[in-house]
Amino acid sequence: MTAVPAPTVTLGDSFARELPELAVPWRAVEPPEPRLLVLNEPLAAELGLDPEALRSPDGVRFLVGTAVPEGARPVAQAYAGHQFGSFVPRLGDGRALLLGELTDAGGRVRDLHLKGSGPTPFSRGGDGLAAVGPMLREHLVGEAMHALGIPTTRSLAVVATGRPVRRETLLPGAVLARVAAGHLRVGTFQYARATGDVDLLRRLADVAIARHHPAAAEADHPHRALFDAVVAAQADLVARWMLVGFVHGVMNTDNTTVSGETLDYGPCAFVDAVDLDASYSSVDVGGRYRYRNQPAAAEWNLARFAEALLPLLDDDEDRAVVVATESLGGFRARYEAAWAAGMRAKLGLPDGLDDAVAGALADDLLGLLQRNGVDLTSAFRALGAAARGDVDRARHLVLDLAGFDAWAQRWLALAPDADRMDRVNPVYVPRNHLVEEALTAAVGGDLALFRQLLDVVTRPFDERPGLERYAAPGPDTGVPYRTSCGT
Ligand code: AMP
Ligand code: MG
Repeated sequence: MTAVPAPTVTLGDSFARELPELAVPWRAVEPPEPRLLVLNEPLAAELGLDPEALRSPDGVRFLVGTAVPEGARPVAQAYAGHQFGSFVPRLGDGRALLLGELTDAGGRVRDLHLKGSGPTPFSRGGDGLAAVGPMLREHLVGEAMHALGIPTTRSLAVVATGRPVRRETLLPGAVLARVAAGHLRVGTFQYARATGDVDLLRRLADVAIARHHPAAAEADHPHRALFDAVVAAQADLVARWMLVGFVHGVMNTDNTTVSGETLDYGPCAFVDAVDLDASYSSVDVGGRYRYRNQPAAAEWNLARFAEALLPLLDDDEDRAVVVATESLGGFRARYEAAWAAGMRAKLGLPDGLDDAVAGALADDLLGLLQRNGVDLTSAFRALGAAARGDVDRARHLVLDLAGFDAWAQRWLALAPDADRMDRVNPVYVPRNHLVEEALTAAVGGDLALFRQLLDVVTRPFDERPGLERYAAPGPDTGVPYRTSCGT
């Protein structure tokens, strides 16, 4: 193990220092044949990392965690979590490591974290590894979400390890290097609470405030303000997901961030034909995390967050419950407001339009799209064209022409702003069939389709000639699309 990699980087160890009870010092396993598959150069630049240096052999070893910069202290993080409703007191980084913290060009502290870096004391019988397909999926979908303006962790790189990973079959292995505002989860607080150590819980809350919600430090009750801030961040985040048709698929409390970033792209998918009950994950048999349930799932997760925070909200437990309940009661209104504001933009509605009118237009449209099985992304973009006078493009998507005409008449009477619509309604999202196609080729060794798709979805709003295939809905195979965590 070399002490200093080619990219001489300073990695902070504040998490390990401030919360040693939640950090197990650990090292990544050495991949037999590391090979860089994809490097996020814009993100590298943001982090002050030299892409050339990262591409060098030592740079690649840095990206898989085996060349550790001097002073860095990689750790596996401890956390608990409710998985599909059941509490698991000890999850933690079973195949991941926090390498340390970087300060980006904007002065923000960012975590550099690895996934697939080998077993840790939290592996619970798992192999600690990750496969190329799911790691490339996280890179692709995360970058698409970022380009859509949705808070998310981001992939810096995916490195193939040369080590096969045993799943249903043998798959090529990979390590993902991921950057996040932070990796504090609701599950991190659940873990701290379960230790019974209120001092640890308080330090954790104070780290979360300093790192993610500094305004809370100024409040009369900083820990109550922290809870309010996380409720708001999650309400806003899930509203953003809903507006683009993103289905996370595994909204367990260990995948729910305190920062309000989207975390862990496993069995995620984008809805194509509008279906409020869309559910893709093969693991989520009951549809707990289906499209329409996401706001309720987030609210449920925040209730678990409140339970973990109770000792900090008030010395008296009954009063703490009252405080938490009141704060959590704000989730719905915050979510509805974020969704309504987003939907107004998607429909190009004028400011000052009555909420009830805007709400009815949105609900009626979604009902129409759902009944007619219309593709969500295509529909909103076609409505942008309609706002410019080309109504046929949208009209042709709908079977119920009379229904569409009646709706369009009400909407067009409000003179929707087409430019505003095109700034928020993507032409290109990582459509399920395109993602599958690109990943299948990439796993087979041909990254051309993956690179092309990455290029397309990272410029989602500008329609480009020649990319019609990427804007079109997938073939209707008659078979529901299924994703798996592919862990
Ligand atoms: P996820 O559903 O990917 O968010 O992971 C849930 C938990 O399972 C986390 O504690 C992971 O670290 C752990 N885990 C997932 N896959 C593996 C694996 N292959 N080996 C060890 N732990 C894993
Ligand atoms: Mg996870």
